[in-house]
Amino acid sequence: MSARKLILCHDCDLLNRVAELPSGASALCPRCGGLLDRRVPNSIDRTLALTLAGLVLFLVANAFPFLAMKMQGQVTDTTLASGVRALYAHDERFVGSLVLFTTIVAPLLQLLLLLSVLAPLRFGRRVPGMIPMFRLLRRVESWSMMEVFLIGILVSLVKLADMAQIVPGIAIWSFALLIPVLVAAKASLDPHLVWERIGRRA
Ligand SMILES: [Zn+2]
Repeated sequence: MSARKLILCHDCDLLNRVAELPSGASALCPRCGGLLDRRVPNSIDRTLALTLAGLVLFLVANAFPFLAMKMQGQVTDTTLASGVRALYAHDERFVGSLVLFTTIVAPLLQLLLLLSVLAPLRFGRRVPGMIPMFRLLRRVESWSMMEVFLIGILVSLVKLADMAQIVPGIAIWSFALLIPVLVAAKASLDPHLVWERIGRRA
C-alpha cells in the first residue's frame, strides 16, 4: 500500500502524483525533468550529526583568536566579535551590523533551529513551535554568508602581508571548516521528510 501525494514541479508548475519513495530515491518531473522529491538516506541522523559538529566549530570560531597581527614588535589578537566592535567604533554601523548578522547571528540561529527541530524528531517527538521554527530556518539559511566574509578576510590578508606578520588563529580554521559543514547539513536535510514527521500525530 503506497501513499501518494501531490507535488507541484518548481520548474514548470506541473502537478504530479508521487508515490512514497524508498531511501536514496528521487522523483523527477515527467515534463521537464526537474527534481520533485528526494529521500536522503538517514537524513535526520546525518543532519543532526553535522549540526552538532557545526555547533562545536561555531563555539571554537567565536571563543578563540581569529588572527594575530605582529607589527613593530606589537601583537594584536582579533576575534570575530572584536572585528564587529571595531567596525562599530569606526562608525561603520551598517557594515558592522551586516557582518554581525551574516557571520554570527544567522549561522548560530541556523544551527540552533536545526537542533531544536531535528533532535525531538530523531526521538519521534513533537514539541510546540516546530512549524514556525522550521519555516524560520528556511529563511535564515539564505542569510548565512560566512564564505563571503572569509574571502574578504583572505583578500585583506594578502594586502596586509607586506606590512605586518599575520598569524592565523585556531578560530579561522574552525570558521573555514564550519562553512562546508553547514553546506553538508543543508544538503542532507530532507524538508519533505521533516514536514511529514512534524505533521504526523505522535
Ligand atoms: Zn516540471
